Amino acid sequence: MKVFKFGGASVNSADAVRNMAQIVKNHLEEEPLVVVVSAMGKTTNLLEKLVPGSSEFGVRSSEMRLLLEDYHRGIAAALMPDSKEVQQKIDTLLANLDRLCATLPADVEHYNYNYDQVVSHGELLSTTIIADYLNSQGVDTLWQDAREYIITDNHYREGRVDWTTTQERIKNLELRIKYSCRVVLTQGFIGGTADGHTTTLGREGSDYTAAILAHCLGAESVTIWKDVPGFLNADPKFFADTVKINQIPYNEAIELAYYGASVIHPKTVKPIQNKNIPLYIRSFITPDSEGSSIGNYRTICPETPLYIFKNNQILLSILPRDYSFIAEDNLQVIFGILNELGIRVNLMQNSALSFSICVDNNPQRIGVLIERLKHMFRVRYNENLQLITIRYYTQQVIDSIVAGRPILLEQRSRSTEQLIVPCQ
Ligand code: ASP
Ligand code: MG
Repeated sequence: MKVFKFGGASVNSADAVRNMAQIVKNHLEEEPLVVVVSAMGKTTNLLEKLVPGSSEFGVRSSEMRLLLEDYHRGIAAALMPDSKEVQQKIDTLLANLDRLCATLPADVEHYNYNYDQVVSHGELLSTTIIADYLNSQGVDTLWQDAREYIITDNHYREGRVDWTTTQERIKNLELRIKYSCRVVLTQGFIGGTADGHTTTLGREGSDYTAAILAHCLGAESVTIWKDVPGFLNADPKFFADTVKINQIPYNEAIELAYYGASVIHPKTVKPIQNKNIPLYIRSFITPDSEGSSIGNYRTICPETPLYIFKNNQILLSILPRDYSFIAEDNLQVIFGILNELGIRVNLMQNSALSFSICVDNNPQRIGVLIERLKHMFRVRYNENLQLITIRYYTQQVIDSIVAGRPILLEQRSRSTEQLIVPCQ
């Protein structure tokens, strides 16, 4: 079996869905194709505003709710003008969404739980519409509820996969569907606890869903269809002359995703690497072009510097109030707080008297962090920074990227240069 994943941008309009369906039709095989789909366009961002307990809850809820409805009904009507059935299915999903928004307790404590129950409707809506559309096009498609087999713990918004149960459920699914349909269509990003509550795997988690399915099915390959021609050496938003990398070793892809390359979700590679399953990144805009492949290669090809830019960074310098050294005891306290607050450190450096960390500048979280650290430490910070990571750097490449900006912090290994500079 092969696994395909289509993200929000590939299904953000009726035309996009037609294009996606054509790609699926061109790749039908004897065994069903497993197709993982995200929410349409920016639906997840919109749904986030409807979550009881979020700061935006109630502010423009009716407007947002209407937008959501019009958008999905419009796409469904354009694709299947005569289908009452698909509109009825949308009715049911929206009624359930409204019930949740009206009854879930709107407080911060329940926020993560509420988030998953509400936001999952993006994927439920998109797959419901697309499965009906594929069937209307004569492609025998089975809609599968991912919450029944991607089983996680109750770590809402960041569900951790229970691999044993998930493997069992997916094996059962495989036996049931092996030759019984052409396409199995399912939601990315969402899962369920063993006792039936909806969970999500973290933003942009649909790639991870595709990897979990591929791992458990022992799939032949995974293909992620994107709006870029493949794995580029930099995000084209930041960089004019990008180079497509044709082959990427698994470990390199893991490193790049870890440093913040947004082309794939960081958790995606490991499950497929463990089973030696190749991962292809291809363009849904030019579906006949070759794309990139992540697999068992020794080096990237072609060999070229790779750039990862992270904007909106804050650099915190943490100094013990009692003038003690930054040693294991102090570090333990600092990391304990970071861990509790779920703040990921993008870069760190310590000296005798201070410990510096570079993190994403989420003002709310950083405010709490500084408040918590204040009891034992003095904290200084610099905002509006950019973290640049360059793999396979040369001095010339570094100089041209830094472009004369002051460097606040720099770390260099044999393969990787990391720099913090003011945003341009
Ligand atoms: N719809 C989810 C998000 O926007 C998951 C995904 O697209 O991968 O984060
Ligand atoms: Mg997405």
